[in-house]
Amino acid sequence: MTVEKNRIITIANQKGGVGKTTTAINLATALAAIGERVLIVDLDPQGNASTGLGIDRRDRKFSSYDVLVGSRSVAEAAIETAVPNLAIVPSTLDLLGFEMEIAQQADRVFRLKKALATDDARRFTYVLVDCPPSFNLLTMNAMAAAHSVLVPLQCEFFALEGLSQLLETISQVRQTVNPSLDIQGIVLTMFDARNNLAQQVVSDVRTHLGEKVYTTLIPRNVRVSEAPSYGKPAILYDLKCAGSQAYLQLASEVIQRERQRKAA
Ligand code: ADP
Ligand code: MG
Repeated sequence: MTVEKNRIITIANQKGGVGKTTTAINLATALAAIGERVLIVDLDPQGNASTGLGIDRRDRKFSSYDVLVGSRSVAEAAIETAVPNLAIVPSTLDLLGFEMEIAQQADRVFRLKKALATDDARRFTYVLVDCPPSFNLLTMNAMAAAHSVLVPLQCEFFALEGLSQLLETISQVRQTVNPSLDIQGIVLTMFDARNNLAQQVVSDVRTHLGEKVYTTLIPRNVRVSEAPSYGKPAILYDLKCAGSQAYLQLASEVIQRERQRKAA
C-alpha cells in the first residue's frame, strides 16, 4: 500500500476573531473541491469549525481531545462533512481539560504529531489544524505537528503588533520542538477597501513581510459571516460572493507554494 505524502498546515494567531476558523473552513472546502482529500482538526474548545461545518454537538462521538489523549485514532474520530472530500475531527469542551491532564507527560507537545503520523491519517493530502486564540499546549501541539503555519491577520491597527509576537513564537518552536516548521503564508482578512486604515495596514504588512504575504486579500463580506449559522462553508453558501471567490484564490496560492516547495 502506498501512503501519499500529506501536508499539515496549522492555522494560528493568538488573537481571537481574526479569521482563523473562517480560513480553515473555506480553504479546506476549496482544496476539497479540486479533489484533494482534506481533514480539519478542530483544536479550539469553542468548536467553531465543527459548528460552522454543520456538525451538531450531539453527533461528536469522539473528538480531538480523544485523539490527543490517545484513546481514539484520527480515523475513528473523523466525521465526514456535507462537503465531499472534507472530514473533520471535531472539538468538544473536553479539550479544556487537556492541558491540566497532560501537563506531566513528557510527550505532551507531540500528541497530535503522533496521531497524524498513522497511515490512516496520512491518506488526507491536506490536514488543516484550527487553533484556539492563545499560545497554549493545544497550539503547541498544532505547531509541533505541522509542516507549515498559515497566519490570518486582520486588517486593523494592532495587526503588526500581535504578529511580531507570533513570529517570535514560531522561531521558538523551530528552536525546540519543530526545526523544519515553515511559514506557508500570511493572509490578510476582513479587508475593507473603503477604510483608509485598512489600506495602510496592508501596505505596512507587505513592506515588513514581503513575499510571505499572499497576494489574495480576503474582503470583509457579510455572506462569509452568515454562512456558519447555516452550518456551511461560505463557498457552498454563496460561491459567487467576493469572500468565497477570495478563498478560492487563496487556495490556488497555497497549492502553488506547495508545488514550488516540492520542486525546490
Ligand atoms: P477566529 O477563528 O480567528 O476567532 P473567525 O474565523 O471565527 O475568527 O472570525 C471571527 C468573526 O468574524 C466570525 O463571526 C466570522 O464569521 C467573521 N468573519 C471572518 N471572516 C470574515 C470576512 N471575510 N467577512 C466578514 N466576516 C468575517
Ligand atoms: Mg476560531
